Amino acid sequence: DAEQAWALRRLPAITEDQHSIEVGANLSGVNDASRVVMSGSDGVGLLRTEFVFMSQHSAPNLATQTALYRRLFDDLEGRPLLVRTLDVGGDKPLPYWPVAKEDNPFLGVRGIRLCMQRPELLATQIRALLTAANDRPVRIMFPMITDISEWRWAKRLVNEIQDEIKATQVELGIMIEVPAAALNAAVFAKEVDFFSIGTNDLTQYTLAIDRGNGEVAHLADALHPSVLQLIKMTVDAAHAQGKWVGVCGELAADTQALPVLLGLGIDKLSVSLKRVALIKEQVRRANFGACQQLAARALLAEDAPSVRRLLEKSV
Ligand code: PEP
Ligand code: MG
Repeated sequence: DAEQAWALRRLPAITEDQHSIEVGANLSGVNDASRVVMSGSDGVGLLRTEFVFMSQHSAPNLATQTALYRRLFDDLEGRPLLVRTLDVGGDKPLPYWPVAKEDNPFLGVRGIRLCMQRPELLATQIRALLTAANDRPVRIMFPMITDISEWRWAKRLVNEIQDEIKATQVELGIMIEVPAAALNAAVFAKEVDFFSIGTNDLTQYTLAIDRGNGEVAHLADALHPSVLQLIKMTVDAAHAQGKWVGVCGELAADTQALPVLLGLGIDKLSVSLKRVALIKEQVRRANFGACQQLAARALLAEDAPSVRRLLEKSV
């Protein structure tokens, strides 16, 4: 089965009833970029850029970052690159940006909150990305967005740099990984180009389960109906404004979850390189109409195990 999926990896991911899905790859470094085209993926659906900042003893400068991103764009041969801006802080502190000790780092100075404290970090990253892209398709999104003011601050920063360096089009979006952003998705949807749902953090924050705490992490199942309801709200709000929604958390690579995500109306998935072929093949074998019916039932389930049982019965 895996062999067949690999042989067919370059075929588009279209369900048997002609519903089309984009399947991208998650990357956390430059070294795997050369495998993106080979994997059959439709580009990069999540570039975690922490590696750019964590492997140095000081903030990487503009020239270093530009060269690095340029190499990535070259490797993608014209396929889109979706970059998530720096998402450190809390449990992943930057060595050269000490943050005061926090009792609850996952609720602390994380993601966009850290960048707002230190705008030049984000500005340099954006300048490097837009310069490296040089007319190639680039999408940029911001992590940990909770409040509309954070999005507007980040968008404005990008727009200023675009004007300054006369950069061409870039699609701008946000991660949906904080329940507040999902609940308020209708407000965000009017202004963003897209949403990408980070189911790892969305699950952590919805279920109040620390993803890094081994004592409780096993309780976190992203197929919990509470999480599914937030995903549905996000998709409905986006589609009402003609915007697309991706999922880039681990749930996107969960074959059991796939029919539910399709049925909820997710437009794009981003998974690890080695899962791309398999997920594309699974999309091709799916029936969108049946997925929609299944998703409607999953939303009514009482807990995550009930959702899983429902899905087991359906395959
Ligand atoms: C997520 O939260 O689901 C996500 C994709 O981001 P990360 O796992 O890097 O926090
Ligand atoms: Mg996250």
